[in-house]
Amino acid sequence: MAKMRRKGDLPTKICAACGRPFAWRRKWAAVWDDVRACSDRCKAALRRSARSGSE
Ligand SMILES: [Zn+2]
Repeated sequence: MAKMRRKGDLPTKICAACGRPFAWRRKWAAVWDDVRACSDRCKAALRRSARSGSE
């Protein structure tokens, strides 16, 4: 299947930190499955909350 990828047709996720939807970015190409936060800031917030909670 040769499907063209259009702009605006990118996969999206909901940020686990701020709850906002965010779209795939090229820098996440290799780690998209592991991406949970929309930004480094949210990523840091997640790390903090993860530490205080039960692992
Ligand atoms: Zn976020």
